[in-house]
Amino acid sequence: MTLDEQAILRLNDLLREAGRRIVIVSHTNPDGDAVGSSLAWAEILRGMGHRVLCVVPNKYPYFLDWMTGIEEVVVYKTDTEGRAARAVEEADLIFCLDFNAISRLENLSDVIESNTTARRVLIDHHLAPDPGFELMFSHPDASSTSFIVYKIIERLCGTGAITPAMAEAMYVGMMTDTGNFSFSFLTPDLYRAVAVLAETGIDLPQIHNNVYNAFTEGRARLFGYAINRKMEIIQDGTVAYMSLLESEMRRFQFQQGDSEGFVNYALTIKKVKMSAMFVAHRKFIRISLRSRGDVDVNLFARKYFNGGGHRNAAGGKSFDTMQQTIDHYVRSVAEFARNGYLG
Ligand code: 5GP
Ligand code: MN
Repeated sequence: MTLDEQAILRLNDLLREAGRRIVIVSHTNPDGDAVGSSLAWAEILRGMGHRVLCVVPNKYPYFLDWMTGIEEVVVYKTDTEGRAARAVEEADLIFCLDFNAISRLENLSDVIESNTTARRVLIDHHLAPDPGFELMFSHPDASSTSFIVYKIIERLCGTGAITPAMAEAMYVGMMTDTGNFSFSFLTPDLYRAVAVLAETGIDLPQIHNNVYNAFTEGRARLFGYAINRKMEIIQDGTVAYMSLLESEMRRFQFQQGDSEGFVNYALTIKKVKMSAMFVAHRKFIRISLRSRGDVDVNLFARKYFNGGGHRNAAGGKSFDTMQQTIDHYVRSVAEFARNGYLG
């Protein structure tokens, strides 16, 4: 990925005056990259003398609780004091990190939409961002938003400005969005960035341990159950899916984030090129899609589930029952294959 010099100049302009009131927002069901990029960006902006508040629509998963500064992130859903709404109302600048459409903020969308005075800046790596941003750093060829934030910090302030806390936050984003450096845009430049982050003295094995080895017993057992009892393989062994009902999740004391990563597991099977996970929520079913190589699940999510994402990782929602959703998936996969998209 290459930064646009013109965009950097405009960003510089927007940040020239110290003391700007800034809100950083990220997507619903915030993941390691959403939180990591937000925390690092907030910290560098504070260093420039701005007043910054990070806001997420709902709670981040518990395995990110240890991150420095996370306790200051306002969770809009449980923000009874109205801190987020007030900050958005008063903001000069709103940075939108790690999502491409305001609708991805769900319950927070209205608050952001209704603020007409703040300038909106997008920093993101999803395909096809919405129009309507004052300034965009849209880099679908970046493996994570944290990597884009790194490149902007490098260009704007130099890497000497990166504190260990910022380095840790960006590393979490880079690590989680690449599946622990195993897929998507593993460029030499990304590893150069990682080397710079490592030089700040952060403890890489400890970060890995904090994120990937901090689950509950229930999560481990739910994983076994999902793979053994719920994984179905169709399309001559090339497509997989799994589903979890609320009753099944309750049985394993489900906490938000517990099914994170399950969808990837089907892709460890040599023949499987595409995998889906259906997780029931109170009012809808959340769909996660993953693929290998040229199989484009962003296209699939857009066409069949009104969603989107990246070529090899996308998602969407269904408001039908679990069985209807699965039937729709199976039919859609067959059509997708007939149209030549499964290779
Ligand atoms: P995950 O499966 O990890 O929740 O999401 C994978 C990717 O798909 C993420 O990059 C996420 O932003 C995108 N994605 C997930 N759900 C939706 C959705 O409902 N709409 C759109 N446009 N993208 C989604
Ligand atoms: Mn991301």
